[in-house]
Amino acid sequence: MKFTIEKKLDGTLARAGEIVTKNGVIKTPAFVVVGTKATVKSLTSEQIRSLKAQVVLANTYHLYLQPGADIVEKAGGFGKFMDWHGPTMTDSGGFQAFSLGAAFGNNVSKVATGDAVSDVSATKGQLATVTDEGVTFKSHLNGDKHLFTPESSMLAQWKIGADMIFAFDECTSPSAPYEYQEKSLARTYAWAKRCIAAHEALDIDKKQALFGVVQGGRFQDLREKAARDLGALAASPEFPEGFDGYGIGGSFTKDDIGTAVGWVNTILPEDKPRHLLGIGEPIDLFEGVQAGCDLFDCVLPTRIGRHGTLFTHDGKIHIKNAQYVADFGPLEDGCTCYTCTHHTRAYIAHLFRADEMTAGTLASIHNIHFLLRLVEKIRESILNDTFLEYKKEFVEKYYKK
Ligand SMILES: [Zn+2]
Repeated sequence: MKFTIEKKLDGTLARAGEIVTKNGVIKTPAFVVVGTKATVKSLTSEQIRSLKAQVVLANTYHLYLQPGADIVEKAGGFGKFMDWHGPTMTDSGGFQAFSLGAAFGNNVSKVATGDAVSDVSATKGQLATVTDEGVTFKSHLNGDKHLFTPESSMLAQWKIGADMIFAFDECTSPSAPYEYQEKSLARTYAWAKRCIAAHEALDIDKKQALFGVVQGGRFQDLREKAARDLGALAASPEFPEGFDGYGIGGSFTKDDIGTAVGWVNTILPEDKPRHLLGIGEPIDLFEGVQAGCDLFDCVLPTRIGRHGTLFTHDGKIHIKNAQYVADFGPLEDGCTCYTCTHHTRAYIAHLFRADEMTAGTLASIHNIHFLLRLVEKIRESILNDTFLEYKKEFVEKYYKK
């Protein structure tokens, strides 16, 4: 993998560049389409290509449990398995090991503290324990017990075979206290080094790029320490090459996302790509880009699409509302996606009301198209120095109420 910066935007941390992988080029900033189980929910791989998606991210936890990393390896990697021939990524599986294994069915959005884990687990008879060794969890599919470690995550991701993979980290809860975040960060750092060692042993031909993950919750000093420590690995005698890129993980509040990401990106090595994990609200994409991020992934467009919520430049609309039943315009005027160039709001509203499977497909096509084109326009606006104007214009229209 090779990353080059084409243009930096003065007065911000924003940059436009490109990542070259053995399966193709990603123009950055880029929105990464999420194909959790080696499928983008309700879309064929041909439809993903038609949307001009640049890169697909699959989920290590899900593929490890089903169909198993060995099957995906035999298929030639998850890209081949799903007939996607462009660039690919996998996450480390840590977040899902907690949220689906341990906290499944419990109201826990991001990984909680050690104590909180024990509490929810005790009430549901479930168990996930985070120790220095790794995360022990029960499968959300059949209750089987598994242990994810930095080494087993690297092995699973090696078999799943994406171009870009992530180090195994502990994703902490936004409510976790400072003391826990500090302890967790030390563990994530120790795991980062174990990941590099394990991955170097597997990938002697350097087929995969390994991204380290910056945690630290909402604490500035911890975020900065994480960025410094992970960045410094590249110059360390133990791991002279360090990481190939960085993920920024964990929870943020709505208001501080740009600030918190900026703390990290002013410290991380400038010449490596940065991926803001699991973020996809339009305003967060602008803030993330402005604060120096190059890649974003999120299930948002397909998840809200399946429930009938659609992006437009005037904000989200809910197609099941009565006002669309006899509305024969497109989902959004001027949208060039397949759905808008072939179907009406009335038709999509009908499909949702009739519980037809095509409803989710057509909604997902529009929503993914919307975010892909938005990030493309953000990239163009960096290249022609109009980013801040474009951000202002978009945000005023999208969030006006
Ligand atoms: Zn459309």
